[in-house]
Amino acid sequence: HQFLPFATASRRPRRHGFYLVRAMSSHIVGYPRIGPKRELKFALESFWDGKTGVDDLQTVAANLRNSIWKHMADAGIKYIPSNTFSYYDQMLDTTTMLGAVPSRYGWESGEIGFDVYFSMARGNDSVPAMEMTKWFDTNYHYIVPELGPDVEFSYASHKAVDEFKEAKALGIDTVPVLIGPITYLLLSKPAKGVDKSFCMLSLIDKILPIYKEVFDDLKSAGARWIQFDEPILVMDLDTNQLQAFSDAYSRMESSLAGLNVLIATYFADVPAEAYKALTSLKCVTGFGFDLVRGLETVDLIKAGFPRGKLLFAGVVDGRNIWANDLSASLKTLQSLEDIVGKDKVVVSTSCSLLHTAVDLVNETRLDKELKSWLAFAAQKVVEVNALAKSLSGVKDEALFCANSMGQASRRSSPRVTNAAVQQDVAAVKKSDHRRSTEVSARLQAQQKKLNLPALPTTTIGSFPQTADLRRIRREFKAKKISDIDYVQAIKVEFEKVVKLQEELGIDVLVHGEAERNDMVEFFGEQLSGFAFTSNGWVQSYGSRCVKPPIIYGDVTRPKAMTVFWSSMAQKMTRHPMKGMLTGPVTILNWSFARNDQPRHETCFQIALAIKDEVEDLEKAGITVIQIDEAALREGLPLRRSEQEFYLDWAVHAFRITNCDVHDTTQIHTHMCYSNFNDIIHSIINMDADVITIENSRSDEKLLSVFHEGVKYGAGIGPGVYDIHSPRIPSAEEIAERINKMLAVLDSKVLWVNPDCGLKTRKYDEVKSALSNMVAAAKLIRSEL
Ligand code: GLN
Ligand code: ZN
Repeated sequence: HQFLPFATASRRPRRHGFYLVRAMSSHIVGYPRIGPKRELKFALESFWDGKTGVDDLQTVAANLRNSIWKHMADAGIKYIPSNTFSYYDQMLDTTTMLGAVPSRYGWESGEIGFDVYFSMARGNDSVPAMEMTKWFDTNYHYIVPELGPDVEFSYASHKAVDEFKEAKALGIDTVPVLIGPITYLLLSKPAKGVDKSFCMLSLIDKILPIYKEVFDDLKSAGARWIQFDEPILVMDLDTNQLQAFSDAYSRMESSLAGLNVLIATYFADVPAEAYKALTSLKCVTGFGFDLVRGLETVDLIKAGFPRGKLLFAGVVDGRNIWANDLSASLKTLQSLEDIVGKDKVVVSTSCSLLHTAVDLVNETRLDKELKSWLAFAAQKVVEVNALAKSLSGVKDEALFCANSMGQASRRSSPRVTNAAVQQDVAAVKKSDHRRSTEVSARLQAQQKKLNLPALPTTTIGSFPQTADLRRIRREFKAKKISDIDYVQAIKVEFEKVVKLQEELGIDVLVHGEAERNDMVEFFGEQLSGFAFTSNGWVQSYGSRCVKPPIIYGDVTRPKAMTVFWSSMAQKMTRHPMKGMLTGPVTILNWSFARNDQPRHETCFQIALAIKDEVEDLEKAGITVIQIDEAALREGLPLRRSEQEFYLDWAVHAFRITNCDVHDTTQIHTHMCYSNFNDIIHSIINMDADVITIENSRSDEKLLSVFHEGVKYGAGIGPGVYDIHSPRIPSAEEIAERINKMLAVLDSKVLWVNPDCGLKTRKYDEVKSALSNMVAAAKLIRSEL
């Protein structure tokens, strides 16, 4: 008799007269660790503040892991991951596992504890933190390993085996997850003093023995599987790198004996050569692919998949909050099964669920209809399992039925579609929306009107957000204070900020953004087509989380969003007051975007809404308008072949917002992050009059573009100091920076400004830093 865990007798599918119920296989790549109500965040912060002890932190963490494993086990997931929990970051965990602690943290040997671990993550009184950077194209940031020829590796954290044992003690057999050695090495940077051209992959000999120790430990603890995350395989690796990948896994073959091996890739298509290298590996039992973003990978699988191996098919999107279209996924899975063989398909998530929100159950503000369109991590686990069950022949009809009703309502809901907007966007493609006058002529016209000194000074927008200010906004939201009182309170704040800037002698002023909690949420709340969650947090780094808005429908702007505030601020001063907007690409990239139309369609819709706002600001007499595109660079696709298309539409969307303003209206844009060199031509193509850009943390890097002779005719303000640190730069230091810039940029186009908004700083820091900045600008002006 067959064991039928799920089927009731009447539901057993009959095929050709046989009962066919097969083993069902489901897998989750990884799971959010922050907790449904950010429990880990609060536990960490209270521990760091010294308010609670190690035990409290460890208890919260253990409870979270426990409930995640139980949830997956209860849902019926077969391959449940462990070691996907982290107190800070999984790359840092790997650095810790390998004992690759930079010497400045003073660790020598033994198991690495919290003090060293958190010092690497966050710095301590005497040593700064290790660098942090974006994890592929997500908004998650990892701690960058610092490696070189002299690093001595050792097995210094038993976290992987400890977590495995912990789950086992709860009666749950898990798949321990490690970052694969190739991804780890290729995401590392040369340690201080190590040559930039140092080949990270040459360290493979040194780290494999440590990996082997981990395997041995896991085997003796009873592990039967191991998962290597190798997302680096979706990047455009060269032949040598791919060869190193193949070699590394071949060399691990003997030490992996006795374990089933899964190599998980995610975030994009696996290029054909990488697919070949990967699927040729002998020691691997299963291969994981992102089949949401990796549509070409499906073709590769169809063209050939190694016989007898398992395909971990990532059909449930880990990057988004949308409910899966279960029927469509089931079809995909069935067609894959036809290729790779019965029982060879394991249903999985496209990537770790780390990048989506945690649990829809805690959303009380969202209406029922909208909720029926959504699935957060906890719901995605159920989806994965439901698909696996159906694939094995036991379909949960009720669940599929509810799902298809949700899908249908989303397709036909009048909340989603707005014919007028669709038409406007269709028309957008007929023009490339360039301003009719060249930038140099525009700058002349603007200068006539603005009459700014050489090296004009400005700031990026926000001024410190005090606790008082946050309270006022909170009370207003909760309707505890009236509209009039709220406006009055904000007005007082604006006046303070304007007065301060006038005293400092800044040339182009900002209102300080006191009325905004967040640069995307502020606009999203006033646009139609956006929804907001109460607990839809996603980890950004360490204990920091973001709560991206959900764009579910066609975007329109029912009424002006900033004109009231900007006009109010402009009336307070004779100096130009910048209108301050967030650009369409940034609004898109920092939201959970629709998956029922291409991203660029949504972006063009937002662009048209922002265009209306720009023109309303202009009508209200605002002559300088800044449209922030802080997140333009981070939306760049991972694969080179897709980058041009993205940059084309992203830059086009930006131009749409301001193509019809007068020559005398000066359009600024601002960008964060320092990796601009590869997209400098797209930045020029945005055709803004002035760009302010983060620079101070990567001085030479940005300026080197201009050394290489790139012509930049528009205004440009590479940040003259780092706003991320409380440190006050001296006037001399800033002057020196400006002089460096003048060596490559014309004094007629150079602006003087900080790296980014001042929101996170304190007032006394801001006052001293800006005062030194203005002094430096004045000094150099006098020398011109
Ligand atoms: N105008 C915004 C501010 O100053 C820009 C923030 C950003 O670039 N991230 O806060
Ligand atoms: Zn910025």
